[in-house]
Amino acid sequence: MSNPEERTCSDCGRPLDPADAFCRSCGHAASAPPTVPGVISRGAAAEGGDATGGLIPYKNVPALMAYYCGVFSIIPFFPIGIAAFVLGIIGLKRRKRKPVIRGAAHAWIGIIIGGLFGLIWTALTGAIIIAVLAG
Ligand SMILES: [Zn+2]
Repeated sequence: MSNPEERTCSDCGRPLDPADAFCRSCGHAASAPPTVPGVISRGAAAEGGDATGGLIPYKNVPALMAYYCGVFSIIPFFPIGIAAFVLGIIGLKRRKRKPVIRGAAHAWIGIIIGGLFGLIWTALTGAIIIAVLAG
């Protein structure tokens, strides 16, 4: 088991050697203050899953943005679903590289909801344009 008090990279979440000035994994400066201990222990407890009922994936910003873009893509003719789709894929890739940041559930919600409504509004816009052009 790793010591919960040890420093972790504020960017990628990997454990840092006390002597390290920069993260060996991503090169992020290690001088940043460590994460609040309570957050670390809760995060470790929730390590097993990606459920949205658990922790919000603050470290996986693309996944979080994908989730919110996906939610807002439900608004008719608001083409943010495409952004949610792309951000969701970026979020999933980031999570695959650094599983500690989590956010897979948020990313998938962005991909599925954003992709679905992005397609619906795009198809509907296309249908309206065709209908107008066809007179
Ligand atoms: Zn790092």
